Amino acid sequence: MVSILQAQNPHRFPSWFASSDITKPQAETILTQAVKNGAAGFGEIKFHVAADGPELQRMYALAGELGVPIMVHFQEVWHTPTEGTFASGWKRFAAMLKKYPRTKFIGHADAFWANISADYAEAEAYPTGPVARGGVTDKLLGDYPNLFGDMSANSGNNALSRDPDFTKDFLYRHQSKLMFGSDCNCSDGRGSNTERAAPRMRGKCVARETLTVLTNATTPPVFRKLVWDNAHTVLKLPV
Ligand SMILES: [Zn+2]
Repeated sequence: MVSILQAQNPHRFPSWFASSDITKPQAETILTQAVKNGAAGFGEIKFHVAADGPELQRMYALAGELGVPIMVHFQEVWHTPTEGTFASGWKRFAAMLKKYPRTKFIGHADAFWANISADYAEAEAYPTGPVARGGVTDKLLGDYPNLFGDMSANSGNNALSRDPDFTKDFLYRHQSKLMFGSDCNCSDGRGSNTERAAPRMRGKCVARETLTVLTNATTPPVFRKLVWDNAHTVLKLPV
């Protein structure tokens, strides 16, 4: 389906990512075929497994072999009474970055972003207030060349909005590791159709809000890397 859309609109969709149920034995075959058909990466991969469990480790190894990035949804706090967690155990993730050095990981969602702050204790999905320096995500981005970050959705916007001084410094230090994304439900760029979004994003376009944060916190050359160059490099897109 996605590859058909891409073939019909190559300028609007210069690439696509593939996902499959990674708890099923055929996942490796399906994802390998998707890359052969032109998928630029795996993602987003969002399942109720451990971040360092066998299901995801098979995918990390395969992404490394195929030379495509893998974007994973990390979430420790349930948003609804029955939702559960996704790729849990982000705080232990250094071991995976070390074990799969050829694999390019793109961190995404609640736990990736909440852990920019050293005081995050998995109590809430979208913590607010000043960031305590030395968070796990900040440290891993600095220590591992194979870790990147996707700034999409409320999770990315919330994290980058909570402490403007920290955000400036964080974006400057990781200017080659972070990528703009929208992950926005709004259908007009002005926040319509967002009734089911996180409360702070209702009536707003996530893309517009995050682009404003990035504009205010960076210089034009750094902004360009965050919204253009880095994704082209990581996804190996022709410029
Ligand atoms: Zn997600």
